Amino acid sequence: MGNIAMSNVLITGGAGFIGANLCERLLRNGDTVTCLDNFSTSNRENVAHLLGDPNFTLMIGDVRSTIRVDADTIYNLACPASPPKYQIDPVYTTETCVLGAINVLELARRTGARVFHASTSEVYGEPQCSPQPETYRGNVNPWGPRACYDEGKRCAEALFYDYSTKYGVDVRVARIFNTYGPRMHPDDGRVVSNFIVQALGGRPLTIYGDGMQTRSLCYVDDLLSGFEALMSGPSVPHPVNLGNPHELTILEIAELVIELVGRPATIRRLPLPQDDPTQRCPDIGVARSLLGWEPRVAVEDGLRRTVTYFAGQLAASQPRRDRIAEAAE
Ligand code: NAD
Ligand code: UDP
Repeated sequence: MGNIAMSNVLITGGAGFIGANLCERLLRNGDTVTCLDNFSTSNRENVAHLLGDPNFTLMIGDVRSTIRVDADTIYNLACPASPPKYQIDPVYTTETCVLGAINVLELARRTGARVFHASTSEVYGEPQCSPQPETYRGNVNPWGPRACYDEGKRCAEALFYDYSTKYGVDVRVARIFNTYGPRMHPDDGRVVSNFIVQALGGRPLTIYGDGMQTRSLCYVDDLLSGFEALMSGPSVPHPVNLGNPHELTILEIAELVIELVGRPATIRRLPLPQDDPTQRCPDIGVARSLLGWEPRVAVEDGLRRTVTYFAGQLAASQPRRDRIAEAAE
């Protein structure tokens, strides 16, 4: 990617939404890519199109165990990211965050690799300021249903900087805000994939709470340009926010999706999950000034591309669904 030419890259969680997009981008750049994944929130199909590439290796494995791969560059993305998914087995989620970080950092320590870590805006919890700058220390419930993810990611950040200070590992930590785009799992449970799949299927859009909570949506290509800027430049001794500061209410996101899908749709109200943050918007001043990065894809354009992707996925799976329905009759 960029000026890190011809790297030997390990991507943990490489079959997931962001990981599969990153695999594609790095292979296009001429890098050699090993994707390590246990398919807990993804599947082989997300990277099946890459299997014939001689520069691509798929390794089925778990970051909670010691990792033995030759790499000069590591991206640590392995972790369930959708709230309903990471809450299914919270102990697993914490282990993936913490043991995964240690195993990745030990590998970087042995190989001398530069290592990127996917942290999250969730480290800010229910924010008391907006937008959220990196200096804000957050307001996380340490024992609620989101704690496995929020505290796991906070502990991982601590480990990344401890390995940097103690062992001189070259670490880069991004705090990623809500990102969307092609290769999200249709049953992932996150707001963009839910709304698009519901609207395309002619089902009501599920709005949790009053829909006035906000998120700021970043298109995946923009996010990956941010990864590139963070990985290719000089070391940054603190986490960097990567996200799109265009803040929208969940109701506004629903309206946009309905408009782009172009079919009449209804809304179904469901209870707001516990500890669901009421506001999220990144302060990207640091990314702008240090990395020269900012998002370029307008939310309407990114959502349109994502609707097209899901429409294609649903059309491709329709004959299979018809066969299953016929067999069941
Ligand atoms: P995803 O669920 O689509 O992908 C995660 C991948 O990690 C999946 O392929 C999953 O099978 C794999 N995985 C999970 N546990 C594993 C384990 N123990 N060992 C090996 N593989 C494992 O999620 P995503 O949206 O692609 O997120 C990727 C990373 O970015 C995550 O670390 C997430 O916390 C972070 N992040 C994402 C967002 C976002 O909006 N997408 C926001 C903030 C942070
Ligand atoms: N949400 C919603 N309907 C859905 C899925 C999510 O209203 O079908 C809301 C959810 O309550 C949250 C926001 O959308 O306020 C973003 O949820 P998501 O799970 O995508 O990510 P989060 O930012 O909460 O981790």
